Amino acid sequence: MFNPERLVLARSARRINQEELANKIGYSPSMISRWESGSNLPSAEALVKISKELNISERWFSLKLPKYKGIYQFRSLKRTDISARYKAKARLAFFYEITKTLEQWVDYPKLNLVQSPNQTEAVNITYKRIEELAEEQRKLWKLGRRPIKNLTRLLESSGVMITKDWLDSDDMDGVSTWINDRPYILVAKDKNNYFRNRFDNAHELGHIILHKKLSDKDCESIGHKEIEQQANHFASCLLMPSASLSLSYRNITLENLLIEKRYWGSSVAALIMRNHSLGLIDNDHKTRLFRNYSYRKWRYGEPYDDDFEVEKPELMYNTIKLLLSEGGFQKEDIIDRTFYSAEDLEELCILPRGTLSNLDIQRRQKLRLLI
Ligand SMILES: [Zn+2]
Repeated sequence: MFNPERLVLARSARRINQEELANKIGYSPSMISRWESGSNLPSAEALVKISKELNISERWFSLKLPKYKGIYQFRSLKRTDISARYKAKARLAFFYEITKTLEQWVDYPKLNLVQSPNQTEAVNITYKRIEELAEEQRKLWKLGRRPIKNLTRLLESSGVMITKDWLDSDDMDGVSTWINDRPYILVAKDKNNYFRNRFDNAHELGHIILHKKLSDKDCESIGHKEIEQQANHFASCLLMPSASLSLSYRNITLENLLIEKRYWGSSVAALIMRNHSLGLIDNDHKTRLFRNYSYRKWRYGEPYDDDFEVEKPELMYNTIKLLLSEGGFQKEDIIDRTFYSAEDLEELCILPRGTLSNLDIQRRQKLRLLI
């Protein structure tokens, strides 16, 4: 039975509106609207067209939607980014369904995150407490005072599911949520920069830990800006621990910060902010550094930005490799059982192109059509 919510989800994931879809498949926008509200069902012929246009199997449209609740945290709330936000949520839902299906055959790492503050504590959280939680998380990871080498790997081995995707927006950096007691993160690929990506992941972990118990209403009363600042503060504390930073250069100049940048894997801008919040530089010093920073045009890109390769999630790639090599799975099985296309699987599970999409599969689909 056709599930109308699935059509909305698929359209959001592809970021096309009702009218665009209508034009592409040769139906009226009002018909799409009726299918999405459930007042009409698409004919078999229409479903074939929808499925082809949206590149999702016909059977996918008849599946029940998993029941999960979670608050999604977005960096930007601009009106222009509404469809980018829908896309991020939909793509994260795709990713969730893929991971959930494959979990029948593999065990993902157990959660290794500090306990989230309860609702009352979360509503009234202080910046000091946020710093403590970041410190507790570092302790749990046995990091001592060292920089985090590969945050993505650390998160994945701590039970956090991470994917990356194009969000086609200048202001959207990522989205995260808890689904059935496991955290999920989707970070934008649009600004592919090692330093920024690490901060984005740390920021999303901030939401995951600090804001897990908050309701939509709580978030509203605290305010979007404050929620974002809390996550930023958590990220700074996690990536640039206070005890170590306080020991570094007394003379904080842009040149010294460039050395620190490579050591901590954090941008010069993030280091300035962190040094300021730790009281290691005063307001005037911060202003001077940022003036000099702008003068050197570092706002458009800092030195060494392109010298480091962006961290890559590997958990799902390893999972699929394992299923193919030792689980007795064929490429087609992964596609058939998840109901997602090879392209979606490759993109969301960060698989090298061609891992699942190959000529054999295309030929097989053609054969099916002939039958
Ligand atoms: Zn955020």
